[in-house]
Amino acid sequence: MELLKKTILEKGIVLSDSILKVDSFINHQVNPVLMREIGKEFKKLFSHVKITKVLTAESSGIAPALMTALEFGVDLIFARKRQSLTLKDDLLTAEVFSFTKQEVTTLTVSRQHIDRSDVVLLIDDFLANGEVAGGLVKVSEQVGAKIAGFGFVIEKTFQKGRAMLEKTGIAIESLARISSLANGKITFID
Ligand code: 5GP
Repeated sequence: MELLKKTILEKGIVLSDSILKVDSFINHQVNPVLMREIGKEFKKLFSHVKITKVLTAESSGIAPALMTALEFGVDLIFARKRQSLTLKDDLLTAEVFSFTKQEVTTLTVSRQHIDRSDVVLLIDDFLANGEVAGGLVKVSEQVGAKIAGFGFVIEKTFQKGRAMLEKTGIAIESLARISSLANGKITFID
């Protein structure tokens, strides 16, 4: 996706050989025009599937996932990472290790919003080691929902996420694939 690659090159900040900061357009300040285009791109890539829900994790996945849900005309569910007083009963949970925070967090989704009739598209901002995506798969499987595909805004192909998710046999689409962040330089593949 050219607009995304251009924005990454112009505004992305390489923090280390493995971390890209995208706070000025995805993770903190959010560019709505870019998000709209991301939603359209995921719709195009998964147009052959009858999706009933888009699922992501808070907070960085919400913006691209919401625009994707809008394109499909379905609801978005975001897994919570923090305890909530209003989210108490009938919870689906999965523990995931956060690559950027270096800590374990628990993804939580209420059973009220997902069931075995759902066909779910999983969306996240980054694919690194596949922890969040794996956690969202576990949550979906707990209710027997079908997973139609994985969509990532940015994939870092030098980390193990894709290899891990490929074992599920579920389609994976990434809008920008970064093969290296070495020496402060962003290198794309494809
Ligand atoms: P994974 O679950 O694939 O191990 O890591 C993906 C999650 O970690 C994403 O939800 C994202 O928020 C965060 N993440 C992983 N790598 C990066 C990165 O290079 N930059 C930023 N900003 N977040 C990342």
